[in-house]
Amino acid sequence: CGYVAVLGRPNVGKSTLMNHILGQKVSITSRKPQTTRHRILGIYTDDDAQILFVDTPGIHKKEARSINRYMNRAASSSMVDVDVIIFVVDGTQWTEDDELVLEKLQQTNCKTILFVNKVDKIQDKEQLLPHLAKITERFEFDAVFPGSALRGDNLEPLINQIKEWLPKGDLFFP
Ligand code: GDP
Repeated sequence: CGYVAVLGRPNVGKSTLMNHILGQKVSITSRKPQTTRHRILGIYTDDDAQILFVDTPGIHKKEARSINRYMNRAASSSMVDVDVIIFVVDGTQWTEDDELVLEKLQQTNCKTILFVNKVDKIQDKEQLLPHLAKITERFEFDAVFPGSALRGDNLEPLINQIKEWLPKGDLFFP
């Protein structure tokens, strides 16, 4: 089955991304279904794939003493039992909390995707390149997608890439 964890500091656009992929009807509410380790964000289904998107359980932003600590724990717990990690960053803003996740990602052996969000806000797309280079020289992602969760730009290639990596014919709901 396909478990995909969505990771990233607050405000980078994780919920927007999920809402776009899973359809606008999916709302992320306070009572969340959980697997043993993960909070389920939703299940993407099409003719030939089912992808279970998960968040990190037991971590509440407000409870964490610092954002730094939150990101650290979120990154560690996403690494358990998932096939793919999508690390969402804000293309207009790279912070130390993002850096922290890069270090954590060194420990994972699942597939990793860098989704560089909010590129609709960037007038000169060339500006993205040094930004991206800085990230990818520290950690080699299996795939990188610049896009816009808000406008839905470049989300189809993202889904197709995930589908390619997931084991075939192993569905949650036959
Ligand atoms: P989360 O905390 O990571 O789940 O972030 P949200 O999905 O709540 O998004 C935070 C803010 O960024 C919201 O105001 C969104 O409307 C905005 N946002 C998310 N994705 C995009 C995008 O692709 N482009 C722009 N311009 N804004 C975005």
